[in-house]
Amino acid sequence: MAVKTDIQIAREASKLSIQEIGKKVGIDEKSLVPYGHDKAKVSAEFIKQQAGKPDGKLILVTAINPTPAGEGKTTTTVGLGDGFNAIGKKAMICIREASLGPCFGMKGGAAGGGYAQVVPMEDMNLHFTGDFHAITSAHNLLSAMIDNHIYWGNELQIDSRRVVWRRVMDMNDRALRQITASLGGATNGYPSESGFDITVASEVMAILCLANDLEDLEKRLGDIIVAYRRDKTPVYCRDIKADGAMTVLLKDAMQPNLVQTLENNPAFVHGGPFANIAHGCNSVIATRTALKLADYVVTEAGFGADLGAEKFLNIKCRKAGLAPAAVVLVATVRAMKMNGGVTKGELDQENVEAVKSGCANLGRHMENIKQFGVPVIVAINHFTLDTEAEIAAVKAYVSEHGSEAIVCKHWASGSAGIKELATRVVETVEKDEARFEPLYPDEMSLMQKIETICTRIYRADEVVADKAIRTQLKAWEKAGYGHLPICIAKTQYSFTIDPERRGAPEGHSVPIREVRLSAGAGFIVAICGAIMTMPGLPRVPSAEVIRLDSEGQIEGLF
Ligand code: ADP
Ligand code: MG
Repeated sequence: MAVKTDIQIAREASKLSIQEIGKKVGIDEKSLVPYGHDKAKVSAEFIKQQAGKPDGKLILVTAINPTPAGEGKTTTTVGLGDGFNAIGKKAMICIREASLGPCFGMKGGAAGGGYAQVVPMEDMNLHFTGDFHAITSAHNLLSAMIDNHIYWGNELQIDSRRVVWRRVMDMNDRALRQITASLGGATNGYPSESGFDITVASEVMAILCLANDLEDLEKRLGDIIVAYRRDKTPVYCRDIKADGAMTVLLKDAMQPNLVQTLENNPAFVHGGPFANIAHGCNSVIATRTALKLADYVVTEAGFGADLGAEKFLNIKCRKAGLAPAAVVLVATVRAMKMNGGVTKGELDQENVEAVKSGCANLGRHMENIKQFGVPVIVAINHFTLDTEAEIAAVKAYVSEHGSEAIVCKHWASGSAGIKELATRVVETVEKDEARFEPLYPDEMSLMQKIETICTRIYRADEVVADKAIRTQLKAWEKAGYGHLPICIAKTQYSFTIDPERRGAPEGHSVPIREVRLSAGAGFIVAICGAIMTMPGLPRVPSAEVIRLDSEGQIEGLF
């Protein structure tokens, strides 16, 4: 029998009405704002009312460094949520919304896969409830107001060469990376350089995901640095007076979106910050609300654990006062083989030796997470061609290194395939061994924070940063930004800055190319290597085969 595609499986789902899903976790009908029959936002009023209630346990799903073999973090996050519910625990899932641009580039959605998905997946991967459109509008309102301010006399004395606020759209369009704005004569303003980033890379996105409530959102928007004067002093969004109107545009987008899994369990899908230029996990407001409504909340951090989990723990958890009770580290036999030197074309052949040598990457991530004081359990996301001997090799490696690896077949069988992992996570959480602590204290200097991440997580033995960068970091410390955490932007494929270096390299050097202050989001981005804030489309974009069939259903999306 042919294996069904994700979209075929999703379409066969027997969904409950969104009101019934809400009821499962105590959200009454009037607190839901339905978007059709199977999606709803949860009202701000309801969220406020949950404040005093006790919190459930937070479980983070992260992974080894991604390889082209695929890991399945979202699939495992969704599967584990279903698994908890299947063993009688009240559980919710919190994942990110999808960016629309990449959907038309490479195939691959953000709703999980196989029999571990959230639905409606087409909606989720396209316009969904409009949150990203709202973010795009809020961002571009500020862009327009900055140029308008300069046009009408520039009272704030903005140096038009130093406007750092760009424009955004949710589309992969490399042609817009760098543009000249205001051409065409005096009525169009002063010609200046600008450019577009993809919406998920907007600081507004990061702010929406970290804000506690609308008041905090407005304050953080006001804190955004949009430009500098000739004397290098910053001009804030607040000075442009855009923060109020931006908050109005984002009012609904701040409310988490409720959907369901294939097994009719509740999931929040909310926010989607880029995992390189920002912290890469769903909104604080969704995670906090889920913790009030469920006993177990499963969430995902983007990329491998060196980037995704590090930022989840050092930025999101620190700032939101969250503490995970356990971390599930997803690994696959195929990815272990790739880390062990096997090429993509040879993945289907058994190769126990390659699995064994590739396990070094897994081991490094296990050690790293333990540094945060949180227990780690390894989930082997099972692929059809994995052999017994290969699985045994991963299990043996993990147990030699002080944790346990459990085979999970949620992709093929839904919750029935992941009950063992769910049970073990519950047992681990009940032992109450987690003593979460961020890797570095707020008071540490910014340069030392960068060094701490590079040496303790990436195992580099030096960080190279020229004088201009060190001076900039010192200047920010003087200006009152020294307490902020660091958001590293680096390749997700390796512990090093070289995407080709798999495994667990040591003794490498990490050059810091640039540092950027995200004063509204509340972190300092340290850029190591090339980073892309506006992706392009591949030679053959998947958009070429996406269309509606004769019944009006979407074809070719996944
Ligand atoms: P991530 O969140 O790590 O990027 P996803 O969970 O989104 O990965 O999965 C990426 C793709 O891999 C999806 O299309 C999914 O269907 C597929 N996939 C995940 N797990 C498996 C598996 N065990 N067997 C086959 N395909 C899988
Ligand atoms: Mg994912």
